[in-house]
Amino acid sequence: MAVFGVFGTSLANVASSAYYGLYALQHRGQASSGIVVNDDGVFRAYKDSGIVNEVFTHNVLEGLGLGQMALGNVRYGTSATKERINAEPMLVNHVKGRLAISHDGALVNYAELRRELELEGAIFHTSNDIEVFAYMITKARLTALSTEDAICQAMERLKGGYSLLVMSPQKLIAVRDENGLHPLCYGKRDDGEYVVASESCALNTVGATFVREIDPGEIVVFTKDGVKSIRTHCGKQPERLCVFEYLYTARPDSVINDCSVHLARKRAGAFLAKAHPVEADVVIGAPDSGIDAAIGYAEESGIPYGLGLIKNKYIGRTFIDPGQNVREDKVKIKLNPVVETVKGKRVVLVDDSIVRGTTCTRVVKLLRDAGAKEIHIRSSAPAFLNPCYYGTDIGSKEELIACKYTPEEMAKIFGADSVGFLPLEDVVKLAESGTCKGYCKACFDGLYPTEIPKMMYDSKYNYKISEKK
Ligand code: SF4
Repeated sequence: MAVFGVFGTSLANVASSAYYGLYALQHRGQASSGIVVNDDGVFRAYKDSGIVNEVFTHNVLEGLGLGQMALGNVRYGTSATKERINAEPMLVNHVKGRLAISHDGALVNYAELRRELELEGAIFHTSNDIEVFAYMITKARLTALSTEDAICQAMERLKGGYSLLVMSPQKLIAVRDENGLHPLCYGKRDDGEYVVASESCALNTVGATFVREIDPGEIVVFTKDGVKSIRTHCGKQPERLCVFEYLYTARPDSVINDCSVHLARKRAGAFLAKAHPVEADVVIGAPDSGIDAAIGYAEESGIPYGLGLIKNKYIGRTFIDPGQNVREDKVKIKLNPVVETVKGKRVVLVDDSIVRGTTCTRVVKLLRDAGAKEIHIRSSAPAFLNPCYYGTDIGSKEELIACKYTPEEMAKIFGADSVGFLPLEDVVKLAESGTCKGYCKACFDGLYPTEIPKMMYDSKYNYKISEKK
C-alpha cells in the first residue's frame, strides 16, 4: 500500500501530480487506485480496482479538474480486502466538515475498535481499516479544536503500523505510527507545493526535492501558513521500521532513513555470499527485487553476475496477489530464462525472499529446462516464521514454507541443489549506514513491536472473529 499527497495554495493540476506520484508507487499495491482533488473545499474523487494507468484514463483525470491539494492511494488486497469497495482514499462527511483519508499499513486492534464502534451504533461499509481510522478521528473531532488535535487524540487508541494522510478543506496532514513501521517522507517543489509520499522515489518523479522523513509518532500539518509538526506521540515507542522495506517492499531507487534501498539489498547479497558460499559459474537474480542482492552476492563471491531471467513487467507481483490459483497462473507467464546465461552452468539464483515457495518450484523447473546443471537458491531475506500484522501480506504459519521444512527439505521440494537464507543477525546490518534506530523483523524472529491482534475478522461483513496463528 502507498499514500501520496500534494499541498499547494494556488490552483494547479494536482491530479496529474498525484497520478505520476502513484505511478511511481505502483509496486506497493496493484489492487486499487484512487485520487481525491480538493478545489477550495470541494472534493472530487475517483477510485476503482486496478493499477493507476488502468483506473485513470485521460478523461477520468481531466474530470478531476484543478485544485490546490490532492490525496492518492494504491493498495493491494488480501483475500479479505481486495474488493472494489475497499479502495481508497475514503471520503468522510462529518458534523464538523469533510475529510479524505488514506493509509499504508494495518491496525492491530482493528477488530476491537470496530466492535466497540458498532456497539455504539456505527455502520461499516468495508473491511478496510481506513473506516476505523475515519470513525476514531471524526469521533474525537466532536470535541477537539482541530482535525490535527482529533488525530492526536485518536492515536491514543489506534495501534499498529500505519502511515496516514488526511486532507481537510484547508489542510493536508501526514501521520506516522509511534513505531514508524512504514516509511513516509515529504519534499517540496520549486513552485512551492509540498509533496508527501510513502517513498522518496515518488518525490523525484514529480520534481520535488526531498525535505525529510516524517518521524515515528509525528503529525505534520501543511497549511497556507506553513508546515507545523506535532510531536506528542514521538518517542513514546522505540523506532521499528519494517526491515522488509529494504529487502522487498520499497523500490531500489528510494532512500529510507538516509540509506539507499539498492545499497541495502546489495549488502544483503554480500552477507548471503559469506553465510552460504557455493562453487558456481554464474549468479542470477530473480527479477526485480532479487537483482540488487544478486549483484551483491556476485561481487562478494567473485562469481560473475549474469542476466538469467527476464520478467514480463506488465504482470503484478505474485507475492501480493491474493489467492493461490491466481499466483500460480501468473508465475507461468511471468518469467523466461536466458538460455545462454544458464545452459550447462552451476547457477546461484538469488531471490528477495521465500514465502510460500510456489515461485521457487516453477523457476527451478524453468532453469533446468533451459539446461542449468546445478541450481542453488539463496534468499536475501531470512526465513519467514511468523505472520505480519502491519499490512504486509505474510500470512499464517500454515502458509509459510519455512515453518514446515528445513532448507534441505525445501531444496528437494523445489528440485534445487541447495537453499540458503540470509542469517537473522545480518538483517539489522543492511542499512546501518542510515539513521534508523531500530527495526521490526517480527516475521523472522517473532518479536512484535506492538501488541498483536487478539481478534481478527476473517470475512468481509459478518462479525466472525478468529485468531491468526
Ligand atoms: S512483521 Fe515483517 S513484514 Fe511485517 S512490519 Fe515487521 S518486518 Fe515488516
